[in-house]
Amino acid sequence: MSRVRVLLLNAALGPLDYRAPAGVDVPAGSAVVVPLGPRQELGVAWEPERLPANEIDEARLRPLLQVMDSPPLPAPLRRLIEWTSDYYLAPLGAVLRMALPSTSALGGARIVTEYRPTGVFPDRMTPQREQALERIVGRQGLIGELAAAAGVSDAVIRGLVKAGAIEAVEVSTDHPYPLPDPDFHVPALEPAQAEAAEALRASVRDRAFQPFLLDGVTGSGKTEVYFEAIAEALRQGRQTLVLLPEIALTEPFLQRFTARFGCEPVAWHSGLRQSQRRRAWRAIAQGEAKVVVGARSALFLPYPDLGLIAVDEAHETSFKQEDGVHYHARDVAVMRAKLEEVPVILASATPAIESRHQVAQGVYKELKLPERFGGAEMPAVEALNLVADPPPRGRWLAPRLVEELEKNLAAGEQSLLFLNRRGYAPLTLCRHCGHRFQCPNCTSWMVEHRFTARLACHHCGHVMPVPRMCPECHEEESLVACGPGVERIADEVAALFPDARTAVVTSDTIWSPAKAADFVAQMESGAVDIVIGTQLVTKGYHFPNLTLVGVVDADLGLSGGDLRAAERTFQQIRQVSGRAGRGEKPGRVFIQSHDPDAPVIDALVRGDVDGFYAAETDARREAAMPPFGRLAAIIVSSEKEADAKEAAARIGRAAPSVDNMIVLGPAPAPLAMLRGRHRLRLLVHASRSIPLQDIVREWLGALEWPRGVRVAVDVDPYSFL
Ligand code: ADP
Ligand code: ZN
Repeated sequence: MSRVRVLLLNAALGPLDYRAPAGVDVPAGSAVVVPLGPRQELGVAWEPERLPANEIDEARLRPLLQVMDSPPLPAPLRRLIEWTSDYYLAPLGAVLRMALPSTSALGGARIVTEYRPTGVFPDRMTPQREQALERIVGRQGLIGELAAAAGVSDAVIRGLVKAGAIEAVEVSTDHPYPLPDPDFHVPALEPAQAEAAEALRASVRDRAFQPFLLDGVTGSGKTEVYFEAIAEALRQGRQTLVLLPEIALTEPFLQRFTARFGCEPVAWHSGLRQSQRRRAWRAIAQGEAKVVVGARSALFLPYPDLGLIAVDEAHETSFKQEDGVHYHARDVAVMRAKLEEVPVILASATPAIESRHQVAQGVYKELKLPERFGGAEMPAVEALNLVADPPPRGRWLAPRLVEELEKNLAAGEQSLLFLNRRGYAPLTLCRHCGHRFQCPNCTSWMVEHRFTARLACHHCGHVMPVPRMCPECHEEESLVACGPGVERIADEVAALFPDARTAVVTSDTIWSPAKAADFVAQMESGAVDIVIGTQLVTKGYHFPNLTLVGVVDADLGLSGGDLRAAERTFQQIRQVSGRAGRGEKPGRVFIQSHDPDAPVIDALVRGDVDGFYAAETDARREAAMPPFGRLAAIIVSSEKEADAKEAAARIGRAAPSVDNMIVLGPAPAPLAMLRGRHRLRLLVHASRSIPLQDIVREWLGALEWPRGVRVAVDVDPYSFL
């Protein structure tokens, strides 16, 4: 029988049947090209019994156009795609797309021509040529990629090729990666580390599903320990996937990996050039890429022989994807490990309450590293009361913190000021008439960025120049910045310590692995005295000479008041505190707060991790909140306010009545307008025993709404915006 069921990458379509050419075998998982109307579409052959479809007549089947020359998607990945679609209520085609992000990789091996600078200067130099050569030092890529990096037209790059300043190189898309050597540099482990490492190695050898929570204080050597599990997977010849929460962390990871295994792992993130992406995808699919490190998108790649998954900084909320398919990479990683029948390691110094609960339930095995490596002490933590001992007017650093910064500078040690707010000031208003600058597309204030002299919306990216005059009352020079962002703190530091060398670290300044590498190099060489940063600096980094951490506003994260506000504040401050005193010198942490007696701050000062978790867990249990109960958010949006309201009301009226389940709303979402769309939210709160997805699927499936209305379901939501 030559009928083949095909799942298209198109989210709007269900599976369709096609006819395979006579004598051609199309195993499930094969990537295929099929006709769809007048177009050609890419899809994947699927087991028909797993994907019900309208069977059309054999005689009317259209033929498959092509079976791609790439390994079929492995069965466990096909099951993962089905599970993800089912659990997160996302179209199968949309999930499948995450497994095939590089459609060009599906062809055979190919030679592509890339270009790189030769170091020769052209006879005729123009400002554009000069700019191009300056910006592409050390780079290689397609003409268009180099042009984009240099900010010039393709023609300028072509001109430089003719002039001999740039040369062509042939690169095979299947050029092999070096093989990491498990015995390259084996560290001597401390007893607690050795014990944890042995448990992980044994589990890798077992080849069975087992989640581990590797819970170790910051600087305890969690990375060293899970590297031993990777070494074991390498000895078994199997693949490992390491997930990191941010691509900014890739660079330090690559360096440490190279020191341990003698070469870099294969990196997978959004910053790859097309040819790198293609090469990585093929090496992964062929099982030649043995260790892959990536952001959450690496989770759906077609590893044929996975032996281990590690999720570093597993508590990080950036593992939660907030657009397209709303999934949580940590949870999907555990599911993938289950389907692949391999161990999965969740490493964190501040595990999520959900993960700790799994340990309590006996599902995850806990491995503890209670002490820092090499005898380093945990830093001393002190709260600074902003009410009793406030900073001077218009300043944000309390006198005591300034004093400590001064001492640290004098001692030649590095300091870090943490404030989770990009830009100069979160709100700008007119002193004369009170006008506030709001984003035209969103319910949010425009944030001033002085470095770029712009007002920017952090939700939709809308930017405008800072006007000289108030648009409302036309008063000149009347605008005032309210509240601090990191840039404003940097100004304050510059005013206090004109000789100190500072670095501002946010996603505005560190937006690529290369930028992160620059920052690490500067810190390591001692070229920076004081870092002012957002959550980007709270994790992963290891700077032995950094001994002082100041948390500028510990109350900031608590104000939102969502389910995880206290937990997130605790994690963030504990992580950023963990940057202090990782070397031989002891660390000090100062937490500025208006309410230093709040339970979170108190727990941080006393280092009472277990007490904090116990209280938080009890509160969740009492309120039947996750992990003791379940939530799903339904976000209804439209450019037309009336349509959004009407659709949300219809959904609310149709809510099924089920025991142990309540539906809250519809109510305007906290961000009532986002990217020009009006938004309403319904929140479903149910007990664990209820088949929440089935109920929501049936409920929404029976309804219709006008064109232009979007209904998105967020299962296990993290963002309550
Ligand atoms: P964590 O991830 O738990 O914060 P790291 O793995 O970053 O801790 O370890 C902190 C520092 O201590 C790193 O520089 C690491 O290389 C070093 N380290 C940890 N364990 C060992 C060991 N057994 N031998 C040598 N260095 C170690
Ligand atoms: Zn906006």
